[in-house]
Amino acid sequence: MTEPLLRKEDGILEKCLREQEISDEEIDFLMTGDGSGDRDFYERIFETARSLRDKYFGNKVFLYGFVYFSTYCRNNCSFCYYRRENGKPPRYRKSKEEIVATAVKLRDSGVHLIDLTTGEDPYYVHKPERFAEIVKEVKEATGLPVMVSPGVFPDDGIQLLARAGADWYALYQETHSRDLYERLRLNQSYERRMEAKAYAGSLGMLVEEGLLTGIGDRNEDRIHSFRQMREIKASQVRVMTYVPQEGAPLKGEGLQGFDRELITIALLRLLFPDALIPASLDVEGIAGLEKRLQAGANVVTSIIPPKDGYAGVANSVRDVDEGYRTVEGIQDTLKACGLVNARQEDYGEWVGNRKAKGFNL
Ligand code: SF4
Repeated sequence: MTEPLLRKEDGILEKCLREQEISDEEIDFLMTGDGSGDRDFYERIFETARSLRDKYFGNKVFLYGFVYFSTYCRNNCSFCYYRRENGKPPRYRKSKEEIVATAVKLRDSGVHLIDLTTGEDPYYVHKPERFAEIVKEVKEATGLPVMVSPGVFPDDGIQLLARAGADWYALYQETHSRDLYERLRLNQSYERRMEAKAYAGSLGMLVEEGLLTGIGDRNEDRIHSFRQMREIKASQVRVMTYVPQEGAPLKGEGLQGFDRELITIALLRLLFPDALIPASLDVEGIAGLEKRLQAGANVVTSIIPPKDGYAGVANSVRDVDEGYRTVEGIQDTLKACGLVNARQEDYGEWVGNRKAKGFNL
């Protein structure tokens, strides 16, 4: 009787399960496939990613409430609907009272964290104390951890956010390849963006780093990004497919990015087994949630209260007012994946342990 042949990916995935380092060539092989076009090849990768997720998080997922409270921005990123020169998106800046009320509503619905996001709005960039005041009041009113995504703030502004109690600083490079970066984040310093994250980490905040795919990125670009994410000790790592935006010059690569996003989610789990990895509702809405969770994600992001006039980013309105981007609206999908909402204490404990381990830079 002949022994079954050991497939190349089996050896690599075995190493991942043992949490051993894999080489760039091995990562490239997992991303490229074995050339057979066999879906099982990818299914084996997803299965390994789920095993590692289960090892660190069991069947529990974390849920993030998204409060995009200012859609003004001083920048002109080529991929963004809210870029300064685009006249199409609704521009709004919610009041502090509205923001706090929304955060409380999200807390009551069962989210574990409030993600306070704005475009790089001069109203806040030049007076960061305004943003810090919102952080303080949201924390007091909800008792939840807070993530801030204000764009690149000056150091003294980041200090104010840290002092106000922000737990996370989310600042996405989107790519770590310089030429691609320059085509995405027009006229914005690559270095300053990296420095701002490092500074936030040095003040005790956890850092989220993010990638876009479907923007002309190659395997080697994403492999380089994985190394950079490790270097900056990112505690949450996300990838999203670029959804072409009305009024944004970047055309992107269309739907083929979706599969690449899934394999990248799985690879992030293989390379960062104990990190938080989002399945965003912002790309394909509720319809795309299950496959992202099955690829190894453990956080559902972009939960938005319906009918309150808040927007998403990549998909500004999709599934929002229909109520599918709510804690209640995702329960059937979680069940189908054998997952449940974590308890609030689980999330608080995770954040506390991560900070204690020195994962802030
Ligand atoms: S991605 Fe952010 S910084 Fe760039 S234009 Fe959009 S809102 Fe502004």
